[in-house]
Amino acid sequence: MASNIPELFGSSVFNDKVMRAKLPKDIYKALKKTMENGTHLELDVANAVAVAMKEWAVENGATHYTHWFQPMTGYTAEKHDSFISPTGDGQIIMDFSGKELVKGEPDASSFPSGGLRATFEARGYTAWDPTSPAFIKDHTLYIPTAFCSYSGEVLDKKTPLLRSMETLSKEATRILHLLGNTDVTSVNTTVGPEQEYFIVERDLYKKRKDLVFCGRTLFGAAAPKGQEMEDHYFGALKPRIADFMHDLDKELWKLGIPAKTKHNEVAPAQHELAPIFETSNVAVDHNQLTMEMMRKVARKHGFVCLLHEKPFEGINGSGKHNNWSLITNTGVNLLDPGKTPGENTQFLIFLMAVIQAVDDYADLLRISVAGAGNDHRLGGNEAPPAIVSIFLGDELQAVMDSIENDTYFNGVQREQLETGAHVLPHFTKDTTDRNRTSPFAFTGNKFEFRMLGSSASVSTPNIVLNTAVAEVLRQFSEKLESVSQEELPAAIHDLLKSTLLSHKRIIFNGNGYTEEWVEEAKRRGLPNLVSTPDALEHFIDPKNIELFTRHGVFTKEEITSRYEILLENYSKTIHIEGKTLEEMLKKEVLPSISAYVEQIADTAVKKKTLIPGMPLAYDTELITTLSSLQAEISSNLASLLQNMEAAEALDDALLTAKAYHENVLSDMERIRSAVNEAEALIPDQYLSYPTYDQLLFSI
Ligand code: ADP
Ligand code: MG
Repeated sequence: MASNIPELFGSSVFNDKVMRAKLPKDIYKALKKTMENGTHLELDVANAVAVAMKEWAVENGATHYTHWFQPMTGYTAEKHDSFISPTGDGQIIMDFSGKELVKGEPDASSFPSGGLRATFEARGYTAWDPTSPAFIKDHTLYIPTAFCSYSGEVLDKKTPLLRSMETLSKEATRILHLLGNTDVTSVNTTVGPEQEYFIVERDLYKKRKDLVFCGRTLFGAAAPKGQEMEDHYFGALKPRIADFMHDLDKELWKLGIPAKTKHNEVAPAQHELAPIFETSNVAVDHNQLTMEMMRKVARKHGFVCLLHEKPFEGINGSGKHNNWSLITNTGVNLLDPGKTPGENTQFLIFLMAVIQAVDDYADLLRISVAGAGNDHRLGGNEAPPAIVSIFLGDELQAVMDSIENDTYFNGVQREQLETGAHVLPHFTKDTTDRNRTSPFAFTGNKFEFRMLGSSASVSTPNIVLNTAVAEVLRQFSEKLESVSQEELPAAIHDLLKSTLLSHKRIIFNGNGYTEEWVEEAKRRGLPNLVSTPDALEHFIDPKNIELFTRHGVFTKEEITSRYEILLENYSKTIHIEGKTLEEMLKKEVLPSISAYVEQIADTAVKKKTLIPGMPLAYDTELITTLSSLQAEISSNLASLLQNMEAAEALDDALLTAKAYHENVLSDMERIRSAVNEAEALIPDQYLSYPTYDQLLFSI
C-alpha cells in the first residue's frame, strides 16, 4: 500500500470518490450543492448521508463517531460515541442517523467562554460543517463541526472563519460584477500554512519540567554551537528524522492533507513542513490535524515535537507562514498580476484593497497572532517585528509609483539568469527577490502573512484578513456603484490613486529587522504593539467592533468574550511558567548549586590539610560566584512569587495581564540569566536536567 501513494492519499477521508460511490445520485447532488453554496440541508438528505458515512466508516474499522470542534482553547475537542444501538433482543446493530450527524450537544460548561455562558446554561451545540470532509482516525469517524452556546453565541474558531469567508465572497463578487465579471458567483480564500517545529529526544524531554509543562525551556546555558554556521538550514536529513518525516507524510496523506515540502530549518533540531494550499476552512482544519499528527508520530519515533514559538533562547523560534489568496469559482486567482500588472485593473483593485485593509486593521492583524509564546519571537531579530507593514517588491512598487505619479508603466524587464555554465538550463529571474524580514509580503500571486506563531490555530489571522479585505471591497463598491459605465475607468483610476496616497505608509520594502525601521514606522504613525496585553487592549476599540459587527462575523459580546479569554490565557500561561520555574529552582537548580559548592568546599579543605599554604583562589572565587548567583536567584524568586500574587489579586483581566508582562516576566528574565551563568560553571553530573547541547545536538 505504501508504495501506491495516489491510492493512499485520502484513503481515510469521506471524500468525493467515496460519496459518489456510496450516495444515491440525487442525494450526492443535494450534498454537493450544500457544500458549494451553503444551501440548507434537508433531513432526508442528512439521513442518507449518515447511512453512507457510517457504512464506509464501519467498513474501514471505525466503531465510534465524534463531533470534532475547535473551542477557544486553540486545540481541538472530541467526545466519542459508539455506533452501537440495541435491537431489544440482547443484540446490537451499528446505527447512525442524520440527526446525530448534523447536531451534537456536548456540555459546554468546561470550555472557555469569556463570560458568555453562565454555568447554568451548560448546554452547547455542535453543528456539522459539510464543507470540511469527515475522516477516520483511531477507529473513529471524525465529523468537523462548529460549536456554539445554547443561546447561539459562538464559542469556537470555525464559525467566525466561515462567516468571514462568506462576507468576503459576497463583497468580492459584488465588485467583480461591477467590473463586468458577471459569471463569477462566489469567491473563496485559499491558505497554505508553512509549519515550523522542533524535534527533541523523548527521554531528555521528560527530564525537563519546563518543556513538559510550558513547552519551552525557562533557562539553559547556550551550547558552544548554535545556528551560526548556517549548516542546518536545508541540510541533509538525519536518518531518524527522515524516517519520522516519511511516516508523518504518510499519516497526513491518508487524511487527505496535501503535505508537500519538508526540510531542516535554520536552528538546530528545527524543521518545517508545508502543504499545498486549500480552501481556508479546510486548510485550518488540516493544520490542526497536522500539528496533532506531528506530536503523535514523533512519539512513535521516540521523539517529542515542540510546537512552542520559542522553546530555546538564543536560537530561532518557530512560526507559521500564512500564504493567502482569493480564487473565483471560475478558477481565477485574484492576486495573480498576470503579464501586465499595470494594465490589470481587476488585480490592482484587489491588491489595493489588501493594502488598505492591512493599513486600516494593522492592529487587528497583530492581535490575531498575539500570545504569550509568540511574544518571545515578534520583534526579536529572527521573526518579523511587531510592526505590521507590506512588502511589494520592485515590480509592484514600480506599478504603484506609476499610479501615484500618473506615469505610464511599461513593465519591468525580466532578465535571463546567467549562471555561466552552459550545461545548465536558462531561466528568467523573478522580478522580486525574497524579503524575509517583512511581516506581510507579496510573493508572486499571493500574500504571505509571516507573524503567526507555530502553535496557534491559523483561524484567527484569516478571520481578520478576510473581514478586513471584505470591508475595504465594500467601501470600494459603494464608491463605484454610483458611477456611470462611461465614467467607471476614470473613477477606478481615482480610487486606486487616492487609496494609494492614503495608505502607502504601510508599504515598506526595506529590512524590517533594523532599529531605523522602528523609528521610521513611528514617524509614519504605524502601530508598534510589542506585547500581547498592549495589542489585545485594541481588540475592543470601537472601529474594530464596528468592523466585525457590520460583517456579521462577531457580535459585540463575542468580541468581548474573546478579548477576556485571550487575556486570561496570556496570564495563565505566564502563571504556569512562574510555578514551573519555582519548582525547578527549589528542587533542582538551587540544590545543584549547593551540592557543587559543597564539593568544592570539601576539596578545598582537603587541599589545605594536605598542603598547608596551598593557594585556594580558584576554589574561593568559584564558591563566591556560585553563592552570589544562588542568592540572586533566590531573591528574584521571592520577587517573582510576590509579583505573581499581586497580579492575581487584580480584578481586571487587562491589568492582570499587564502586571504579568511588566513584573513577572522581567523577574523570570533575571532568573534566567543568573541560572544560565551558574549552569555554565557546574559540571553536568550535578545537574538533574539535560542541557541545551544535549537537547539540541543529540539526535
Ligand atoms: P516559500 O518559498 O515561502 O517556502 P512556496 O512557494 O514553497 O513558498 O509556497 C509556500 C506555500 O504557499 C505553500 O503552502 C503553497 O501551497 C502556498 N501557496 C501557493 N499559492 C497559493 C495561493 N494561491 N493561495 C494560498 N497559498 C498558496
Ligand atoms: Mg514562506
